Amino acid sequence: MCQKKLQHLPRNIAIDGPAASGKTTIGTLVANKIGYMCLDTGIMYRAVAFQALREGIDIADEAAVTSLAERIDIDILPASSQDGRQFDVMINGEDRTWDIRTAAVNAVVSEVSAYPGVRKAMTRQQRKIAEKGKIVMIGRDIGTVVLPDAELKIYLDASVEVRAQRRYIEDLSHGKDACLEDVVESLRHRDEIDSGRSVAPLKAAEDAVIINSDNMTVYEVVEYVMELLEKRG
Ligand code: C5P
Repeated sequence: MCQKKLQHLPRNIAIDGPAASGKTTIGTLVANKIGYMCLDTGIMYRAVAFQALREGIDIADEAAVTSLAERIDIDILPASSQDGRQFDVMINGEDRTWDIRTAAVNAVVSEVSAYPGVRKAMTRQQRKIAEKGKIVMIGRDIGTVVLPDAELKIYLDASVEVRAQRRYIEDLSHGKDACLEDVVESLRHRDEIDSGRSVAPLKAAEDAVIINSDNMTVYEVVEYVMELLEKRG
């Protein structure tokens, strides 16, 4: 698509949706096309969950997990290695890019992210990052809570079967010992908690464009988002 047509880009773009719906892939590709930064906020909740496990904090101890979220140092830097990563995720100065993607973290991240204090700490940082504009921000509550004024909001959906199949193939390609049934179970578990929590539940903003990618390729979704940008421009 011709970049000249896109003269009035939105200040920020919000992309929300359930686990493994392709938000990061689509968000990164769109951001690259329009020269925006892309922030996957799931990384931040994963970082808190990982660090809680590492420090032996009881995940059920809301006060301890919240206090960790308030002091944790998370940095997202350009990728330093070509091992399939999109960026380096540094937690308290150490490279934890792959450690935040384990089954152990998947199992507890939704419990961690349901704590209001954890969300408050993360939301504060996310808004600060978005202040400068030109960001594609990805998550569960970006269009509804973090950036309710985002001029373009996308809610990227797909059936749990399609999402699990995609995540399963991705895991295998990273050399992980994956099992399709376990992936389905893990996605269902997270979706249920993420959409059922009282604070900032996963849901489409009223003014979001809902895209179901069950029968769409990555290329088609990206083209569709670019068309939306063009129309709005
Ligand atoms: O996007 P990803 O699957 O990496 O997110 C991991 C978890 O982080 C989600 O299952 C959800 O519990 C939490 N999350 C959230 N709000 C966001 C982004 C992620 O609660 N904005």
